[in-house]
Amino acid sequence: MIKVGVLGAKGRMGTQVSSAVEAADDLTLAAAVDVGDDRDALAGCDVVVDFTHPSAVLDNLRWCIDHDLSCAVGTSGFDEARLGQVRGGLAGPRLAPASAPARTPARTPAHTPARTPASLRDGRDVRVLIAPNFSVGAVLMMHFASQAARFFESAEVVELHHAGKADAPSGTALRTASLIAAAREAAGLGASPDVTTTEVPGARGATVDDVHVHAVRLAGLVAHQEVLLGGHGETLTIRHDSLDRASFMPGVLLAVRSLASLPPGLTVGIESLLGLA
Ligand code: NAP
Repeated sequence: MIKVGVLGAKGRMGTQVSSAVEAADDLTLAAAVDVGDDRDALAGCDVVVDFTHPSAVLDNLRWCIDHDLSCAVGTSGFDEARLGQVRGGLAGPRLAPASAPARTPARTPAHTPARTPASLRDGRDVRVLIAPNFSVGAVLMMHFASQAARFFESAEVVELHHAGKADAPSGTALRTASLIAAAREAAGLGASPDVTTTEVPGARGATVDDVHVHAVRLAGLVAHQEVLLGGHGETLTIRHDSLDRASFMPGVLLAVRSLASLPPGLTVGIESLLGLA
């Protein structure tokens, strides 16, 4: 039986994850923690799942790593700089459990506790999986986009989400743009052609690794993305729609069950768990 703790347990995703864990025969929901709860409840968990807020997740991760707790993270907002912070936390010394505050802070932590050399311990056995998207369809969409990118002159990404989403563009869109950019660079392609000279600020979206990314926020939506590829007299659109948050649960449960078999340290995305990387 795998003991699972959920951070953000009262949120939209956390509620679904808690139910999915409770419904699985091989998993047990050992702790359900939300804002203001005592994180010490997570002690003894085999895996902690974090679906909280971009401003809270790094503090939660620091606390989990310091307590030797492996994590599957769905919370968005991870760019290269933030991933670097996680790698640094995993590679570096860690605080003794008593030195880190147990209670979950408000969304923006007021301060980060100083590390105390006297209480250092090696935290390298901890595994952290950060997945910009746990939906199998969305992961395939990114995979297909990465495969197709080298064949087309132009590529743009349009992501569409519910109006309650805190960050833009989405983590999935950032990752898609990076994958497309890497594939284009490997194929010797430069930036997509674009002769725009006058522009209302933002009209061409954000530029992520030279790929234009557009973010739509609309009540009624869940999570959707289109990758638009254009070439000589043809276009290819790769679209994925998460119509219900249940779409993320198979990926989350796969991550929970597979985390112990991953190498220690940071893994980004569930591609390797799906045999795609
Ligand atoms: P949500 O409904 O706002 O839920 C977040 C929950 O976490 C809330 O109950 C929030 O409490 C709580 N929380 C905030 N700070 C916390 C902390 N320090 N410790 C414990 N709990 C804390 O958001 P959501 O829709 O579930 O989404 C959560 C995150 O997952 C977002 O970043 C979203 O973009 C991401 N997401 C990822 C995927 C994926 O596949 N990777 C899929 C969907 C969503 P308060 O409301 O009181 O602040």
